[in-house]
Amino acid sequence: MRILLIEDEAALARPLKEHLEADLNIVEWFGTLDEAASAIRALDYDVVLLDLRLPDGDGLSFLSDVRSANIRTPIIILTARDKISDRIDGLNRGADDYVIKPFDLDEVTARIHTVCRRSMDEISQSVVIRDLDVSMSAHSVTRGGQTIRLTAKEWGVFEVLLRRKCKVVPKESLEAAIYAYGEEVESNALEAHISRLRAKLGKDLIVTHRGMGYMLQP
Ligand code: CA
Repeated sequence: MRILLIEDEAALARPLKEHLEADLNIVEWFGTLDEAASAIRALDYDVVLLDLRLPDGDGLSFLSDVRSANIRTPIIILTARDKISDRIDGLNRGADDYVIKPFDLDEVTARIHTVCRRSMDEISQSVVIRDLDVSMSAHSVTRGGQTIRLTAKEWGVFEVLLRRKCKVVPKESLEAAIYAYGEEVESNALEAHISRLRAKLGKDLIVTHRGMGYMLQP
C-alpha cells in the first residue's frame, strides 16, 4: 500500500513510518499541508494519515479541500484525546476514521486495514471500459462475448490500474500488488506483464508515464 502521512511531529511520525514500512507499505511523510496537497493531487495513495495541527494550517480544511476535489482516498485523522469536537468535525467533513494520540502502532495498522477494506467494497462489481466488459468479482474480461484469458499477475496489475483509472499508479504499487511477501521481484517483470496486457486488451489502454508509473486511459 502507498500511504501518505501528514504529521509535523517527527517523534510521532518517524516510528509510525518505520512501523508501516516494516509491513511492506510505501510511506511518504510530509510535515506541512502544502507539500501534502501537491502529493495527493499528483499520486494515488491507498490511505492518508492526517494530523490536524500543522505549521501551515488546519488539517480539517485540508480534508474539506480534498473531498471537494472529489479525491475519495480513505483518510484517518490523528488527533489528541481532548479534541473531541475536532474528531466529530473531521468525520463530518469526510474522514473515514480517527486514532487518538499517543497511538499504539498496531492500532493504526488495524484501522488502516479496516478503512481500506471498506473502500474496496464500494467499488462496483462490473465495469465497462472501451470494448471490454470486466467482472471485478469473477476476475474476468470479455470482448464481444469472448473471454480474454489473463494470468493471475496480469489480472492483478489490471485490477489495480482499473481501480485507479485516470490516475498514475506508481510502479512500486503495482509490484506490491502482484508479488507476495518475500517473493523475488525480477527486474522488468512488471514491464513484461504490461506489454502482454496491452497485446490482449488494447495497445493504448495503458499509458506509460516515464519515471512515475502507469495509467489506464479509458
Ligand atoms: Ca501537529
